[in-house]
Amino acid sequence: MENLDCAVIGAGVVGLAIARKLAMHGREVVILEAEDAFGTHTSARNSEVIHAGIYYASGSMKAQLCVAGRKALYPYCAEHDVKHQRIGKVIVACDESEVAGLMKYKAQAEANGVDDLRMLAPAELAAMEPNVRCVAGFLSPSTGIIDSHGLMLSYLGEAENHGAMLALSSPVLGGRVESDGIVLDVGGKEPMTVKCRTVVISAGLNAPAVARSIAGIPAATIPPTFYAIGHYYTLTTKSPFKRLIYPVARPDWLGVHVTIDLGGRVKFGPDFEWIDRVDYRFDERREASFYKAIRHYYPGLQDGTLQPGYTGIRPRITGPGEPVQDFTFHDASVHGVPGLMALYGIESPGLTSSLAIADYVFQKL
Ligand SMILES: Cc1cc2nc3c(=O)[nH]c(=O)nc-3n(C[C@H](O)[C@H](O)[C@H](O)COP(=O)(O)OP(=O)(O)OC[C@H]3O[C@@H](n4cnc5c(N)ncnc54)[C@H](O)[C@@H]3O)c2cc1C
Repeated sequence: MENLDCAVIGAGVVGLAIARKLAMHGREVVILEAEDAFGTHTSARNSEVIHAGIYYASGSMKAQLCVAGRKALYPYCAEHDVKHQRIGKVIVACDESEVAGLMKYKAQAEANGVDDLRMLAPAELAAMEPNVRCVAGFLSPSTGIIDSHGLMLSYLGEAENHGAMLALSSPVLGGRVESDGIVLDVGGKEPMTVKCRTVVISAGLNAPAVARSIAGIPAATIPPTFYAIGHYYTLTTKSPFKRLIYPVARPDWLGVHVTIDLGGRVKFGPDFEWIDRVDYRFDERREASFYKAIRHYYPGLQDGTLQPGYTGIRPRITGPGEPVQDFTFHDASVHGVPGLMALYGIESPGLTSSLAIADYVFQKL
């Protein structure tokens, strides 16, 4: 059996950010990735938005790590040539019934340390986004867009420059906690068993299953798994928007909003539906509900201009009817296993938060 210093399980944006951080601090790191490429799951199936940190409950890990992550991410992207754009976002109330919901954002944003939200006068709104129908809105100037693959490539490059190794097609099948380390059984073409001083479970949708497969992690500490799929439709015409447009959010997701990618393509989504397994197939029956939701704030949407885009799945650890769980980090104080950090429920804004999550995990380890 080979001895390892650190194993990071999962090469999504969060696992790669953690591997980078650990490697840059002199740790010997192997990233174990089940797929034959890095970042093929949630990190490749999201909105690619750098969130400001407006929505999340005050004091939550999401609020803290999103704001810290966003503040770190812009300079990081500039220094490392990761494509991004501080494009800004407008949050809109489409009718009077939504205004109260909109007004709550400013106080929530300020409580989270986001102090640049600006109320827009109706005439200013109309001039800024003439195709958007709304009665009130806020501008979030620090919201942006990012090339998530470029970001992952940059994290990986830095990690590798500091000695980390990415092992693709290397699924962790199980393991056990021993007195002097954590043993992992790794499958794939070249199966191996490794004993690690430190293990970080950063396996996204699969994180609870990976934890359950390691004997010695108390089952009672491992959260359940829930999946909520979101579909994106793309617009076949030129962008009628200059910024990202978000309607007032629903209780447990942000609503069908407008994002624009770095190539200028408009995407609408994601919607929200609970599913019982990881299945990224696109359900085209959603088209009518997308037209309806989008026309609420963009009445000029022409028939036949939406085309199916892609889906992403939210890694939830609470289910229908339950409050949305915060980012969840289990260290030895929770599960009693020295050297083990398990990350659960790292949904949005995990991409924005990735550098801050890595700092947090590094400190906790
Ligand atoms: C629809 C949607 C939209 C989003 N939009 C945004 C946004 O605009 N802005 C933002 O900040 N955040 C957004 N997010 C959140 C963000 O995408 C995620 O928080 C982030 O990508 C999570 O990264 P990760 O590394 O934890 O997980 P993943 O990217 O899922 O990576 C986990 C990795 O673990 C691997 N793995 C799983 N099991 C094993 C195993 N047994 N052995 C080895 N490897 C394993 C998987 O193959 C995968 O590569 C969005 C999320 C969703 C679902």
